[in-house]
Amino acid sequence: MEKEKKINSLDVAVKQVDIAAKHLNLNPGLVEKVKQTKRELTVHFPVKMDDGRIEIFTGFRIQHNTTRGPAKGGIRYHPDVDLDEVRALSMWMTWKTAVVNIPFGGAKGGVQCDPGAMSRQEVENMTRRYIWEIAMMIGPDRDIPAPDVNTNPQVMAWIMDTYSMLKGYSVPGVVTGKPLELGGSLGRHEATGKGVVVVAQEAANQILGFSLEGAKVAVQGCGNVGGIAAQYFERAGAKVIAISDMYGGVFNPKGLDVQRVLDCRNQYACILDRKTPNWDEISNRELLELECDILVPAAIENQITHQNAPKIKAKMIVEGANGPTTNEADDILRDRGIVVVPDILANAGGVTVSYFEWVQNLQELLWTEEEISDRLTRIMKRGFAEILGVSRRDKVDLRTAALILGIGRVVKASELRGIYP
Ligand code: NAD
Repeated sequence: MEKEKKINSLDVAVKQVDIAAKHLNLNPGLVEKVKQTKRELTVHFPVKMDDGRIEIFTGFRIQHNTTRGPAKGGIRYHPDVDLDEVRALSMWMTWKTAVVNIPFGGAKGGVQCDPGAMSRQEVENMTRRYIWEIAMMIGPDRDIPAPDVNTNPQVMAWIMDTYSMLKGYSVPGVVTGKPLELGGSLGRHEATGKGVVVVAQEAANQILGFSLEGAKVAVQGCGNVGGIAAQYFERAGAKVIAISDMYGGVFNPKGLDVQRVLDCRNQYACILDRKTPNWDEISNRELLELECDILVPAAIENQITHQNAPKIKAKMIVEGANGPTTNEADDILRDRGIVVVPDILANAGGVTVSYFEWVQNLQELLWTEEEISDRLTRIMKRGFAEILGVSRRDKVDLRTAALILGIGRVVKASELRGIYP
């Protein structure tokens, strides 16, 4: 078998800029500018562990672009987080906020750690010290973090508290994805997964001519994005035939009971812990190659590569995760007629409701769940319609269309602002 080479997500992201730039008549200097990040901070910091040891952690916060507004992007806790990954993720955030046309730039942060092997107290200590180290970079007017892989509303609460302690007053707008009791928004928790299903429905109807009713869906990852998307697919009448986590997946060609899988995950921290006759075990690799209508990679980057793209049988891929498909895989999927709804639109529901949360915090008011849900659906549908329009106009795939739209908006904003001094 061909030896697997680690794919650098930054190479993927920069190549995407080149692909889109060919279709845009842009100042080459400004194109070079958006291939680089604006500001990067690496921090090494000590944390007191439960057994009395002091462990040194490494963390990053990177702002890719702030031309259209404050930087915005999640914080990831994972052993493999590195500078290039955070750079790529921050760049995708810039295009994403531009695609759905909300007034933010792009950022991302991360700490190299394995939170699964740490106690709650250790995760809290690490979070507080990390935020103290990057506090000069963040703030409600400059850079607003949010949850990402292995971070959650509790971590956001610690971030808000640490920043507020430094300032001497409460600053709820410094972070989104907070618990409701601290100024979090109704609908934020569900937003990314719900948005995935809204655009999946639009693409199925408008491009491939099928509805979600009875459609077979396979979902890789059952966290905030994958788990919730699976629930919304089921509610829309689709059959979720496979779901996985990092250890592997469960499969039933007649459709799984999604709630039962998620209960298993919540109870045993792994969906495979309780095997029942209602499902078979499946590997993550097998899940991606299942016969299905819609495949939703909702775990991590670089899952669909030139190696498995020729074997994918889904009619459509809706990218819940950031960067799950490499450039080479994109070419193969396009040639095979498989529709890819790209991450920078498909998972933009999270940042969209984060924007609503930030607006509510700044204005000190609270929108109802219905208002949030209606506005989210409207923005996701508008984003999809705009991308489909560009794709048909320029005869390009949906990813290239999304990049044309997003990069075009950022570079246009740069031109209007001009170069200082
Ligand atoms: P999460 O930590 O809640 O869940 C991640 C899931 O992926 C878990 O089920 C985990 O077991 C699984 N996983 C981890 N490593 C894996 C591997 N090697 N193979 C297969 N599965 C693996 O994270 P999340 O918030 O759901 O984020 C998932 C993806 O969606 C990431 O790419 C993230 O950047 C992106 N995203 C998240 C949000 C959000 O609002 N949370 C918004 C936009 C994009």
